[in-house]
Amino acid sequence: MKVLVSVKRVIDANVKVRVKADRTGVETANVKQSMNPFDEIAVEEAIRLAEDGKAEEIVVVSAGPERCSETIRTALAMGADRGIHVKCDDALEPLAVAKILKAIVDRESPDIVIAGKQAIDDDCNQTGQMLAGLLGWPQGTFVSKLEIGDGEVQVTREVDGGLETLALDLPCVVTTDLRLNEPRYASLPNIMRAKKKPIDAVTPEELGVDITPRLTTLKIEEPTKREAGVKLESAAELVDRLANEAGVI
Ligand code: AMP
Repeated sequence: MKVLVSVKRVIDANVKVRVKADRTGVETANVKQSMNPFDEIAVEEAIRLAEDGKAEEIVVVSAGPERCSETIRTALAMGADRGIHVKCDDALEPLAVAKILKAIVDRESPDIVIAGKQAIDDDCNQTGQMLAGLLGWPQGTFVSKLEIGDGEVQVTREVDGGLETLALDLPCVVTTDLRLNEPRYASLPNIMRAKKKPIDAVTPEELGVDITPRLTTLKIEEPTKREAGVKLESAAELVDRLANEAGVI
């Protein structure tokens, strides 16, 4: 089985994000960037499939500027086999990414695509679903367990009421939830080995994909600062304040 994993380079989850002074976006200059955490889970799952003898090849794809190749290299150091860097400096919307991934799927013919359920920078949670739609493939989103069967994959999804288990015919698209696994750290020997693994470069134009944005960002604002709370002496005082100060009861 061949596995295609999409990985996005995002502002590191531990960094406090700051809005640019002109409110057109968030500050990314000199800000630490890392692999989207849900994509680390996707890479880990693919590696576990290979370790279980269920996957023969893991191909990692990332679309974005030059430094995305570092993110691909991280996935290679974790255990993926080769990478594809779709080079473009413009911001990509989920539909553009889904079209790029579809073009890569058409070239690579994987049996399964594993993506993160969402990118922690735009929180869109759209790309996997759009890719499955464009391909006409079954999709399993928010997956917390994945088992490969004969020509199908069983996925357990985290839904509001509990857990839902679905059987999807292969090929299919799966998106990862937090509880699917705990990603490994790359060991030093594997980091060294990853330097020799191949990364192909391609552009959206070469893939025949139009990445023109369809959305216009009007402005970006920081959330309003929360005011400190106050401790009240009694329930009666709380009711009084809610009625007379907040005016909510
Ligand atoms: P989103 O729909 O933006 O929340 O992203 C969901 C998932 O799509 C991510 O976790 C990635 O697996 C994939 N993805 C989004 N953008 C990119 C990108 N530029 N390059 C590679 N994969 C991406």
